[in-house]
Amino acid sequence: MKMLLQEVILKRPLLGDGAMGTQLMFAGLEQGNCGEAWNLTHPERVLAIQRRYVEAGSDCLITNTFGGSRIMLNRHSEANHVVEVNKAGVEIARQAFNDKDGYVLGDIGPFGGLLQPFGEFTEAQVRNAFEEQATALVDAGADAIIIETQTSLEELLIGIEAAHAAGSKCIIGSMAYDVTLDGSTFRTMMGIEPERAAEFMEEHGAHIVALNCGTGMEMDRARDAVERYKRTTSLPVMVQPNAGKPQLINMKVVYDETPEQMVKGLIPLLKTGANIVGSCCGSTPEHIRAFRTTMDEFLASEESQWRFA
Ligand SMILES: [Zn+2]
Repeated sequence: MKMLLQEVILKRPLLGDGAMGTQLMFAGLEQGNCGEAWNLTHPERVLAIQRRYVEAGSDCLITNTFGGSRIMLNRHSEANHVVEVNKAGVEIARQAFNDKDGYVLGDIGPFGGLLQPFGEFTEAQVRNAFEEQATALVDAGADAIIIETQTSLEELLIGIEAAHAAGSKCIIGSMAYDVTLDGSTFRTMMGIEPERAAEFMEEHGAHIVALNCGTGMEMDRARDAVERYKRTTSLPVMVQPNAGKPQLINMKVVYDETPEQMVKGLIPLLKTGANIVGSCCGSTPEHIRAFRTTMDEFLASEESQWRFA
């Protein structure tokens, strides 16, 4: 039987994938359109992106279902396709691995609003939406559920509980941190610090503590975050920084770190004990390929704490 993701990463770190959103734009998705619907309307384009990540060396693929909850899909009048969109997302990722033994992480992104009393959504609405999505992902065979780009513990908790209710054997909670204006530290938009997030996730039965995206959270800051997680929890840690900062060039959003620049931060990140390393917005299969080469060299080297594991 296949080992659980949270167990296999204790033996050696795994490589995640790179961005989906920016890759969908390159493949012709227009800003503001529903990328998740492409799982049904253009599955071959989603598959082509994920195949490139597998060819570049990804061990884990995140499904193209970031905005695949009923609340998010409803904004694109796609709420009648929740189950199909999520099921197809898992199937496409599995197909991208072909006969390689990779891990498919079913993606749940934020519902994109605020909970009452600050916003219009009730907890029950969000809970129902996340449970429906998590169930569709688990039933389709996802190896894990990743609740990502989270900024509030309330929404994170609903996601974790939904993944439990869906019977997911591996649950990853991933926070998006922003560097503070004075540059001294980082926290989420809702003021959550990594120590609090790690304690909270452990308390509520998540299996992997993660961070992704955020503002100013490039490789060196991501390493700080991994260190702070590792000091707080014994759970494995996943990390997916953006490929630098977004720049608007000819009305297109381009991220400014090349694979060569980004990969410089990889060994320090692995030395902190990061268990899954991937990357978020703006990264490409070329970034992941550079990660693969450097990671393999490091894992085989005498510096690596994993060498004799
Ligand atoms: Zn991102």
